[in-house]
Amino acid sequence: MNYDVIIIGAGPGGIFSAYELSQLRPDLKIAVFEAGHALARRHCPIDGEKIKSCIGCKSCSIMSGFGGAGAFSDGKYNITNDFGGTLYEYIGKKQALDLMHYVDEINMRYGGEGTKLYSTAGTRFKKLCIQHNLHLLNASVRHLGTDINYIVLENLYADLKNKVSFFFNTPVDAVSAIESGYEIRCGEATYSCKTCIVSVGRSGSKWMERVCKELKIATKSNRVDIGVRVELPAEVFSHLTDELYESKIVYRTEKYGDLVRTFCMNPKGAVVTENTNGIVTVNGHSYEDPSRQTENTNFALLVAKHFSEPFKDSNGYGESIARLSNMLGGGVMVQRFGDLIRGRRSNPDRMRDSFLTPTLSATPGDLSLVLPKRILDGIIEMIYALDKVAPGTANDDTLLYGVEVKFYNMEVAVSDKLETDHEGLYVIGDGSGITHSLSHASASGIHVARDIASKS
Ligand SMILES: Cc1cc2nc3c(=O)[nH]c(=O)nc-3n(C[C@H](O)[C@H](O)[C@H](O)COP(=O)(O)OP(=O)(O)OC[C@H]3O[C@@H](n4cnc5c(N)ncnc54)[C@H](O)[C@@H]3O)c2cc1C
Repeated sequence: MNYDVIIIGAGPGGIFSAYELSQLRPDLKIAVFEAGHALARRHCPIDGEKIKSCIGCKSCSIMSGFGGAGAFSDGKYNITNDFGGTLYEYIGKKQALDLMHYVDEINMRYGGEGTKLYSTAGTRFKKLCIQHNLHLLNASVRHLGTDINYIVLENLYADLKNKVSFFFNTPVDAVSAIESGYEIRCGEATYSCKTCIVSVGRSGSKWMERVCKELKIATKSNRVDIGVRVELPAEVFSHLTDELYESKIVYRTEKYGDLVRTFCMNPKGAVVTENTNGIVTVNGHSYEDPSRQTENTNFALLVAKHFSEPFKDSNGYGESIARLSNMLGGGVMVQRFGDLIRGRRSNPDRMRDSFLTPTLSATPGDLSLVLPKRILDGIIEMIYALDKVAPGTANDDTLLYGVEVKFYNMEVAVSDKLETDHEGLYVIGDGSGITHSLSHASASGIHVARDIASKS
């Protein structure tokens, strides 16, 4: 065997499994294979001047490389079982929370100390929300911010590189079972190991599907979240964001009984584009550093779509809607709420007359030509409901960017140890379909590392 443990993917799942294994079992020979670049080499070429849109780099520096999809994220570690994944269904609620707290302690030791931990516990907002049929989910949120999140990753890498062998720009093509372990193939080269941890995240979803087919590992899937990113003056939500930073609020629509939820709140942040396989969608960022903050707050409003038989391609459905918005807007589309409810498109003149300055240059248009009626109706209903707890949300100038889509990986069949039917083959993080967040993905890495350390 070349290695005792091979980890595929250097996102939070891979990093924290490498961290914990190297702590508990320094005697083990561990290697991490990553399709993207080392952290210092991760640069997106879009500079807004010479390069304005995605040029389809071989390895996307936003999604791939040391730090995974989270490297340039807002670094919000939500410590909760209420959202961010269903890890607790496998390992139990207490264990899941304990592991998320443990990850938080590591982040603090590696550069995050001094950042704020927000909590919804015992706040007056829960009552205020419920009085208006809105449900504030329980969570503690560590907000590292894009800048500190990067420093934590730098420090973790500086430490890990002396204990673990990293192979960057080395996508793993295939995983096969061999006698007493696994063999991975990267181009012409092959490497063997006793134990293999697969942590390939969202960007590795198609690859993961293929590996599961080849190794006959069962999978299931059928969910996609579709919606818009809302942008408004930071003052409108400041009473919530100053105290909670991120509030996850769920609303059940009166018309259809659908659940609409807020997602990824960025106080004083900026709306950004995201390119997944050539499809441009919208997302948001914010910074801890006051000099990089804006006057606006943004968050997504998402409606979850679950499909039943015979339709199986929920991600394909989300992609088609995003493509439609790209077709009409040439990328991301933006509409004033006032224009949407009056049934007219936003145009450059109406945008110019607006009191709100957008943080993303997007094409003014008409989201009702893109989003299915049921989804749009749900979003409009929720905006009016939010207006009751944050007056100003339903102002005419509130901006809606479309579309925001949250794709989900298919769920891989694993045990409570996150081990597949193949002994010694673990699937963790977002690539497993079980987690959808930094804290859950990181916690899943610690969980498998402890199991492996206790066995080998
Ligand atoms: C813009 C953005 C902002 C976000 N903000 C937040 C936030 O504030 N809070 C939050 O909780 N979550 C956030 N998320 C989600 C969060 O980043 C993910 O949930 C988390 O990174 C998942 O970790 P992971 O290790 O499972 O996968 P990933 O982070 O996706 O890492 C997987 C790694 O595997 C590599 N890989 C894939 N296939 C292969 C292969 N075949 N061979 C080798 N390597 C491979 C990829 O290159 C990647 O580096 C954000 C995501 C994005 C894109």
